[in-house]
Amino acid sequence: MKRSLSLAAACTAVCMLFAGCGDGDSSTAESKAAETSAQTDAASEAESAAPESEAEESTADDGETQSIDYMVLVNKLNPLPDYWEETVEIVHCENSFGDDVEVEKKAYDAYLALKADLETEGIFIDLDSARRSVADQERIMADFTEKYGADYAAKTVATPGYSEHHTGLALDLYLNIDGEDVYLNEDMVQYPEIWAKIHEKLPNYGFILRYLEDKEYITGYGYEPWHLRYIDDVDKAKEITEKGITFEEYLGAVKSSDVTVDYGSSELFTEEELKEAAVQVKCRFATFEGCELHSLRYTGDESSNEENLARMKELDDSADYVEVVEFLTDFHTPEEGSQVLDADREMEDYQWWLAREKDGGWQLITWEKS
Ligand SMILES: [Zn+2]
Repeated sequence: MKRSLSLAAACTAVCMLFAGCGDGDSSTAESKAAETSAQTDAASEAESAAPESEAEESTADDGETQSIDYMVLVNKLNPLPDYWEETVEIVHCENSFGDDVEVEKKAYDAYLALKADLETEGIFIDLDSARRSVADQERIMADFTEKYGADYAAKTVATPGYSEHHTGLALDLYLNIDGEDVYLNEDMVQYPEIWAKIHEKLPNYGFILRYLEDKEYITGYGYEPWHLRYIDDVDKAKEITEKGITFEEYLGAVKSSDVTVDYGSSELFTEEELKEAAVQVKCRFATFEGCELHSLRYTGDESSNEENLARMKELDDSADYVEVVEFLTDFHTPEEGSQVLDADREMEDYQWWLAREKDGGWQLITWEKS
C-alpha cells in the first residue's frame, strides 16, 4: 500500500471505539519508479466480463459445498464471517510496482475485464491492494502498537476482522496517467473526470463504488473513489449505482436520511477545516447502529475558547491540543434503544467536541446532551 498514512489517519482518527474508519493502510509510502500499469495480461481473461449471479447461499454449516456470499456486509459493525477465510478462493497477481496483490478469484476476473474495457478508452488502472487477511491486519495492529503505542494504533488501524479488505472482494485501484503511476490519495483525487469514467463502468462487471461522497455517517468512511467492491451481480450493481445508495442502504442495514450540514460562518477556520471535523462526527455515527443522523451544524467561533480548550485537555491529556470546535447534531435513536439512548426518539442539539494539536487532525473528544 502506497498511500500516505496521514490521509488514511485523517478519516480514522475519531473512530476510537470501532477503530479504523480508513482501510488501516499501514505500509510505508514508497516512491517507486513510474512504470506502465498496462502489463497485466487482461486480454486473455477479458471474456469473463459481466459475471453471472449464481444465487449461491453461504452458511457456516454448508460443509464441503460451501461457497462465499458475494453480498456479504463487512464494515465497522459487521465482522468477516467465521467460515470466510477457509472458503474464499484467492488468486495472486503482481502490480506495476511488483507488489503481490491477493484478490478473490471471480473478483479478479471481473477486474481484468473492467481494466481491458477501460484501456480501450485510454484509461489505465492497476491494483494497489485488495485482500488482507485478518492475520495481516493483526500483524499491522501489533506493529503499530509497538512503534506508536496502543492509542495511535487503535485510531489508525482498522480493527482486525472488521475491514472489507478481508473479503478479497474489495479492491483499491491506482491510476496510470501519461505513463506515470498515480497512487497517493491526494494525487488520485485530482482526477475526478477519470474516476467518473471508471465508476460509470463498474456495474457492468459486478462492481460498486463502496464509499460514496457525503455518506460517511452510513459507511464510516470518507469518499474513496478508488475502493471498489465486487458483488458478483450485474443487475444489483446497476440498481445500487443508479439509485446512488450505499451497500448498507441497499441491504437495509441502515435507514437512509439526508444530513443537513451547516458550517455557519467562521473567522477562525476555513470551511475545509470544518468539513474535516464534521467528517469525524459523521464517521462516528456509522458506529451507532440504527441511528439516523439528520443534521450537523457548527456552533460558531465563540465555543472555540480557552475554557473549552482546557476542558478538552482535561478529558484527554494524551495530546497537546491547541484548538477546539463544537458541533450540534439532531438525530433519531435506534428502534432498539440502548443503555445510553432511549429507543426510537428524536434527539436535538447534542454537542460534539473536537480538538486538534498544532498541525494535527481533528480528534473527537466527547459528545453530550447540551
Ligand atoms: Zn480500500
